[in-house]
Amino acid sequence: MPASSWISPQREGLYLPGADVWIDPSIPVPRALVTHGHADHARGGHGTTIATPETLAIMALRYGVGEGAHPLPCHQRIELGDGMVAWLAPAGHVLGSAQVVLERGGERVVVTGDYKRRPDPTCAPFEPVPCDILITEATFGLPVFVHPPIAGEIARLLAARAAQPRRCVLVGAYALGKAQRVIAEIRRAGYDAPIWLHGALEAMCRLYRDHGVDLGDVRLVTEAEKGELAGQIVLCPPSALNDRWSRRLPDPVTAMASGWMRVRQRAVQRNVELPLIISDHADWNELTATIRDLAPAQTWITHGRDDALVHWCALHQLQARALDLVGYDDEDE
Ligand SMILES: [Zn+2]
Ligand SMILES: [Zn+2]
Repeated sequence: MPASSWISPQREGLYLPGADVWIDPSIPVPRALVTHGHADHARGGHGTTIATPETLAIMALRYGVGEGAHPLPCHQRIELGDGMVAWLAPAGHVLGSAQVVLERGGERVVVTGDYKRRPDPTCAPFEPVPCDILITEATFGLPVFVHPPIAGEIARLLAARAAQPRRCVLVGAYALGKAQRVIAEIRRAGYDAPIWLHGALEAMCRLYRDHGVDLGDVRLVTEAEKGELAGQIVLCPPSALNDRWSRRLPDPVTAMASGWMRVRQRAVQRNVELPLIISDHADWNELTATIRDLAPAQTWITHGRDDALVHWCALHQLQARALDLVGYDDEDE
């Protein structure tokens, strides 16, 4: 029986009717498999939540999900019922992020969730799993989206800091994943002075540290002495970039770390002086290379810009279809 018969794309998520399990559902369900902790994938209120221990820790921190948590470390198999087995494989997106691998009757389906192929010191690297059906994200599914190497973006950030010792560089970065990756990459570039945090980033940075990710000397902005922040690097959530909070900082150079910084208009909208193109999603080349490497019989595309990728598959004689799932929001980038 073809896999398309036992996995059913619904508007609220991918559904396995035989086992009554949902993957990243946008509504509360009795049993959910959750790929990672970003809000558009991980929601509270499920009866049972199956996810990596790291993702469950992130969900507990963000939404207080505790009851019904079913930890599933990568590569450990779980029987879902109706002859279906699931296991998780690292997705390289954020700490704990995983692809869902589903097997039934000799057939295999891989749901990538959000993923990237670039090295990231804060999480396990994406693991390619050959499959019959690949269900891939497509957040940056347009040929114009080719992310530059992160080392160059970090070098631009450090150069801006060095060039203006009386100002600070204020980097907007999402609290889960982006902030910790930016800090870890700044450390990898050899910068070991304190890095200052908006209070909203503190708990997640601590969670990463508790999971063995070294962020060096990070401190809270509220602990800084007057004048101490000149020439320093400060991180905040994107929403704080232009609000009252940032007025206490010494003439900040406003930066933002996001794949969307490729789009000039987005940088202008946010008043960003120093756009840093740093993405935790696969770019166009990574998306197409992954489809080519795994050579699935079918590719189902979701979560982003699907038309260009469907067209690319057709050009390469690969079967593809776009899924119409709701509730996925690319803002977590
Ligand atoms: Zn995500
Ligand atoms: Zn997402």
